[in-house]
Amino acid sequence: HASPPNLNTKTKPSISLEFFPPKTKIGLNNLIKRIERLTIALQPIFITVTYSQLNSAKTLELIKLLTENSNFKNVNICCHLTCTNHSISLIDEALETCKKLGIKNILALRGDPIDIEDTNNNNNNGNIQFKYAVDLVRYIKQKYGDTFCIGVAAYPEGHYNNDYNPVTKNYTSSQNYGQDLIYLKEKLDAGASFIITQLFYNADKFLSFYNAYKEMIPDYKKYLMIPGIMPINNFMIFNRATKLAHVDIPKELIDRFPVDIRNDDDQVRNIGVNIMIEIIERIYNETNKEVNIFHFYTLNLEKSIAQIISNSSLLSQILEDSDDEDEDDEDEDED
Ligand code: FAD
Repeated sequence: HASPPNLNTKTKPSISLEFFPPKTKIGLNNLIKRIERLTIALQPIFITVTYSQLNSAKTLELIKLLTENSNFKNVNICCHLTCTNHSISLIDEALETCKKLGIKNILALRGDPIDIEDTNNNNNNGNIQFKYAVDLVRYIKQKYGDTFCIGVAAYPEGHYNNDYNPVTKNYTSSQNYGQDLIYLKEKLDAGASFIITQLFYNADKFLSFYNAYKEMIPDYKKYLMIPGIMPINNFMIFNRATKLAHVDIPKELIDRFPVDIRNDDDQVRNIGVNIMIEIIERIYNETNKEVNIFHFYTLNLEKSIAQIISNSSLLSQILEDSDDEDEDDEDEDED
């Protein structure tokens, strides 16, 4: 399997950063500056750009701007790509553009079907043929060989679809990772090299998923398991994100946010920073450093991530590295 350039050369813990394409031109310009600051300071192993099946052009536009900007010449970029309800020509267009722009990494996803029950249809109308992410992984491998290093998603608490009852249009409480792991293995066997997980706030659940993953995949060291970390910037958004992602918030974690401070973003963020550091350091230590790259769902925000990195004795090693590497760039930083 092709490896993302640089991924295996790091011995210290590292991070990756995820951004979504903003809607407006001003938003786009601001984001580029923000990514510039974050990549110079934090040396992410790669940055990823999310994809929306309703507006794929925005993803490709952001990626193009990043590849054209000389400040990003050493930054690895990973393009998310979803496949459900997509024609082959749409997929090809995205992959050809990525190839032309020199993008080496694709996060191959199914995407959320517009109507969840569509996944049960055969989708054999014309040239739509991607039902699951594994179909996209196979397609990329077959058509592009090792041009791209392919990543896939995993769900430490199980994917919520497993839990969906199309009759009641509700979720039951049986959601777990058991069946998902079988499908994850299928995606790795089809040619994926790295895994980014759904966000989670229950480190126990991640660790139990990771142990089950190792048991199922004896050669697991061939692949990179990158836990998805979503900093807590705002209590309401945190609550909503966990509901959307169908993930657990342990009671003792909620209790760390006294009710009277929940509207105070600064206080919420400070508590959240400590929580995320504890989760990251626990995973690093309890997996014997096997898990040493952490993927940040940035939500296009930078404050809490910068705080997490500088306050964590583990992750602040990254800053020592980047201080060395940045010595020549000081003039540029002053702009
Ligand atoms: P799959 O691996 O195809 O799994 C989907 C469901 O089908 C699961 O329930 C699985 O158990 C089941 N399944 C899989 N294979 C089979 C099979 N062979 N037979 C039967 N059932 C099967 N969405 C976006 O739209 N844009 C993004 O940029 C984006 N980025 C993401 C990044 C990360 C790190 C993660 C974790 C998710 C992201 N998503 C994104 C959301 C993702 O598209 C949804 O969660 C989607 O519902 C599942 O995608 P998947 O690739 O995991 O699908």
